[in-house]
Amino acid sequence: MTTSAHVPDPARAGASAWVGIDLDAIRDNVAELVRRAGPAEVMAVVKADGYGHGLEPSARAALAGGATWLGVAQLAEALQLRAAGITAPVLTWLFPPGADVAGAIDADVEVTVGSPWTLDAVVAAARGRGRAARVQVKVDTGLGRGGILTDWSEMVHEIARAEAEDAVQVTGVWSHLAWADAPRHPTVRAQQERFVEACDELERAGVRPPMRHLANSAATLTNPTAHFDLVRPGLAVYGLSPVPDLGAPADFGLREAMRVTARLSLVKRARAGQGVSYGHEHVTDRDTVLGLVPMGYADGIPRAAGGRGPVLVGGERSTIAGRVCMDQFVVDLGPAYAGAAGDEVVILGRGADGEPTAQEWADASGTINYEIVTRMAPRLPRVLVGGNG
Ligand SMILES: *Cc1c(COP(=O)(O)O)cnc(C)c1O
Repeated sequence: MTTSAHVPDPARAGASAWVGIDLDAIRDNVAELVRRAGPAEVMAVVKADGYGHGLEPSARAALAGGATWLGVAQLAEALQLRAAGITAPVLTWLFPPGADVAGAIDADVEVTVGSPWTLDAVVAAARGRGRAARVQVKVDTGLGRGGILTDWSEMVHEIARAEAEDAVQVTGVWSHLAWADAPRHPTVRAQQERFVEACDELERAGVRPPMRHLANSAATLTNPTAHFDLVRPGLAVYGLSPVPDLGAPADFGLREAMRVTARLSLVKRARAGQGVSYGHEHVTDRDTVLGLVPMGYADGIPRAAGGRGPVLVGGERSTIAGRVCMDQFVVDLGPAYAGAAGDEVVILGRGADGEPTAQEWADASGTINYEIVTRMAPRLPRVLVGGNG
């Protein structure tokens, strides 16, 4: 394994904490998803800076693992991939009125038509460009979020007309599940049935997109009947389980790509009865050793994890003592701690190696593992490991 040259030694550079990204894990996770989804193709979702793992490196590692598509929420994210020189097919599904759709067409980014106004915007942009815009149509089959809901039948005709006029070329139709993480929930089957109906209706109007897709990570891993022509996993690409009640990453052949570490910036003795951190919510119950971890809520440590968040220091599990501050928190390391400032603190990493996991942080702070990894702050340097560079 090689460490990228981006931040050769984050501690020397003055960083207090950093985020290690194992690009080989991303590549291998995608290869596993490709294996499970086949013959469906894999669109790796790299929105939100690759779920906190870095947009461009995650995209390249996912393509190396066999993804044939990249998916992003925002149009700006799609253009960032193009600016980085990535030429793989890219789909975007979120942009506001007034967005530069013509720029997307020029950059060969496929945009999602999920409402009457997005169709109008795409048609107008395509006319100005003199070439058909490649679009994918999004039907709301029951999530009640993005996509065409009650006016699907009218929109089918508008879409067919736009295609007949060569303003658009419909390359896909897609939808998103509300309860993918509960594969037996009745809405899952209902949404799949509605999706098939919606595709049939398009086909009767003469629109036959080659790609139909519905599955996120949870459906990719647990529900092959939802795979259709392509799957759209995000979380699983980064080695996290979208269904923690059904299995840990290793149970699905995945491994965590993110490892967040810091170095203790202070180790000191404290007497019994010492209040710790703002509001003294923790009070030492014996003479002990306190360690100061230079990460806080501004770095992505949830404030809600005060008193509960897990860390690994010197090979031993410990818990945040008292409140999480903006830039730091404290751990009560116990009277026998013999370490010193500079000792490694693993915030989260590989569950299989006994390190705290994003899932444990989610449980400790009342959220989901998605939020834990995506909230790791930009001020934490990303240290890339593996990959080709
Ligand atoms: C984020 C997202 C995905 C990926 O979801 P995961 O649960 O992370 O696999 C897929 N499709 C859409 C539309 C999304 O917004």
